[in-house]
Amino acid sequence: MATVETRKLTKEFTGHAGEGVFAVNGIDLAIKDGEFMVLLGPSGCGKTTLLRMIGGLEHPTSGDILIGDHIVNDLPPRARSIAMVFQSYALYPHLNVYNNIAFPLRAAKMPREEQKKQIEWAAGILGIEELLKRKPRQLSGGQRQRVALARAIVRHPNVFLLDEPLSNLDAQRRASARDELQQFQRRIGTTTIYVTHDQVEAMGMGDRIAVIDKGSIRQIGTPEEIYDEPADTFVATFLGSPPMNLVKRDDEILGFRPEHFFPASQAGSTDDLVPLQFTPLREEYLGAERLVYGDVDGVRAIARFPSTTHLEIEAGHKVDFAVRRQHLKRFDIETGLRRYGAG
Ligand code: ATP
Repeated sequence: MATVETRKLTKEFTGHAGEGVFAVNGIDLAIKDGEFMVLLGPSGCGKTTLLRMIGGLEHPTSGDILIGDHIVNDLPPRARSIAMVFQSYALYPHLNVYNNIAFPLRAAKMPREEQKKQIEWAAGILGIEELLKRKPRQLSGGQRQRVALARAIVRHPNVFLLDEPLSNLDAQRRASARDELQQFQRRIGTTTIYVTHDQVEAMGMGDRIAVIDKGSIRQIGTPEEIYDEPADTFVATFLGSPPMNLVKRDDEILGFRPEHFFPASQAGSTDDLVPLQFTPLREEYLGAERLVYGDVDGVRAIARFPSTTHLEIEAGHKVDFAVRRQHLKRFDIETGLRRYGAG
């Protein structure tokens, strides 16, 4: 196992008009041994390029990559002790599952007996012992994903690099695959870097999340830190569904989560309440919860309640709503950066 570090890592591509495009722009990351780190950001933010540089598939323009304290910038992928699994699992269609998993071991000239041991071990961990004789086309998406993971672990890599490995699965399978993958990572304890644009995946799986936008890191933290204490308005609205409400007030932006926004009449104690006038417009019933869409000072805002809460809300009429002071986050109106301290 190993730590992974990037220092001022940068990748510049040449755009259509010959201009420089910084896909990754000076990223510093320090991933602990055994950690599950998620790289989260919108399409095009540079997360795949960052992962490919760590894996050795892309050469950095500048900066360093360290695996287990060694600079690996000039090492080819196979010398980095990493295993990669991408969106398209790229299983060999003409080989059965056993031979697909054996492929990297054969390439490494491992003796046949030892290969068999490793394959049985990996198949056992991933619960695919029954599938070893099948061809990839005879497998479901989830099974293929497990085969790809088995092929990745048989070499006992120090680091896993996973690029949206669950994106081919339907919503229901994704939830169980997420759970399986996380349990599996905990069991074998291999340092893992996982790329996704899906905040639910990031929140549910990561020990920590690095939120990336336009080639730079906006914030690194545990899911709780990122959700509860976003460092800027980008992070505040990228995580959370629906996102954090942002309203202008004087010379700053106030942010509050939909679940922290409620009718003032429902507040027990009132000492720490910040009043806000809410005009509800539309309600959405989602089974376990209810979302109320409306506006505050002419800006769209959303309130979220458990369905069990009874609400008498009349569309189009202003209501006294409130947020508790501890749940109100303040951001700079120019930079979008968080303002800490009393306000
Ligand atoms: P997605 O989630 O859509 O895969 P991403 O966050 O992984 O996006 P990257 O694939 O890393 O983003 O791309 C980052 C930026 O670099 C994009 O603007 C992309 O167009 C650009 N880029 C990526 N590869 C190249 C390349 N080989 N040549 C030129 N530009 C590139």
